[in-house]
Amino acid sequence: MNIRKLTTKFPLLKKLINLEEVTWFNPNITSYAEGLPFVTLTQEDSNDAAERLKRFAPYICEAFPETKITNGIIESGIVEIPQMKLALEQRYNTSITGRLMLKKDSHLPISGSIKARGGIYEVLAHAEKLAIEHGLLSQSDDYAILFSEKFKTFFSQFSIAVGSTGNLGLSIGIMSAKLGFKVSVHMSADAREWKKQRLRENGVNVVEYAQDYSVAVAQGREAAKNDPTCFFIDDENSKTLFLGYSVAGQRLKQQFAEKAIVVDKEHPLFVYLPCGVGGGPGGVAFGLKLAFGDNVHCIFAEPTHSPCMLLGVYTGLHDQISVQDIGIDNITAADGLAVGRASGKPAQHNCNKKAR
Ligand SMILES: *Cc1c(COP(=O)(O)O)cnc(C)c1O
Repeated sequence: MNIRKLTTKFPLLKKLINLEEVTWFNPNITSYAEGLPFVTLTQEDSNDAAERLKRFAPYICEAFPETKITNGIIESGIVEIPQMKLALEQRYNTSITGRLMLKKDSHLPISGSIKARGGIYEVLAHAEKLAIEHGLLSQSDDYAILFSEKFKTFFSQFSIAVGSTGNLGLSIGIMSAKLGFKVSVHMSADAREWKKQRLRENGVNVVEYAQDYSVAVAQGREAAKNDPTCFFIDDENSKTLFLGYSVAGQRLKQQFAEKAIVVDKEHPLFVYLPCGVGGGPGGVAFGLKLAFGDNVHCIFAEPTHSPCMLLGVYTGLHDQISVQDIGIDNITAADGLAVGRASGKPAQHNCNKKAR
């Protein structure tokens, strides 16, 4: 790749390479109505995911008692953060209109990150499919029956594998092991020690790599290939993960309704979404668009050391370019965001990008 040519054509890359904070708004953004026909997934797909999570709620309730207060629905709260707002106003010498709120996905039950949406959902979808195919379950059953030795023994014939920087592995590892699957999590070098520890305590096979996320994923995929009973969860290409994330849109709409918070043309909603490969923020942005249409504006935020989505969407090279290609190290303390190459899929969703 000729970097000099690329930076001439895309001048913002100079700042990116210098690790400066940059803001970029995609000039090709469309309205909701114009954009929707280009998205292969639909409202029905997202509703289907929400329904599946409802079917599993009685199981989740039994298997993870901390979810009893929400009846087995894995959801986070929203809180107003006035001090943060004040601090931002003082720091940038400006006034922020409207309310500043935090969606506490960091506090999601079971695995404490946004991955508790997509990752857990994909494991549940896989388990449901297997159990139905083998005549052990029907959609009208009370899924609490899955919390039994009979089902644990059944699922123990199958295995699940995933590559992760930590949080996806935590979500998929804990959920898979709880159901009874044999599960291997391939962890990149940046994964925190306590996450590996927690997984091992839960009976998960943790495989460690000295390299970054893309190597962990590639190795995980390779290992899964040799085992026909193994299901590889593909963070970079999974429609199922994406749909699990998308359910956040209708859930947030419900939470706003309960708090009498209006989102309309006069009261637009701006959502800042931390971005790694793009599946999490892409799926959530898709769900938000379904819920709020043109009244929601989604802005992806990335670390200056890992601006892979901005790089891919801005240059149009998507997953054909990595931050390492332009000399950026992909070393960041930002949890879950040390990703050097974006997924090719979510970039199609026309979101604006911000690297910071
Ligand atoms: C994974 C992750 C993200 C971003 O999700 P991607 O699908 O990688 O874009 C954001 N925040 C946290 C805490 C994460 O673990």
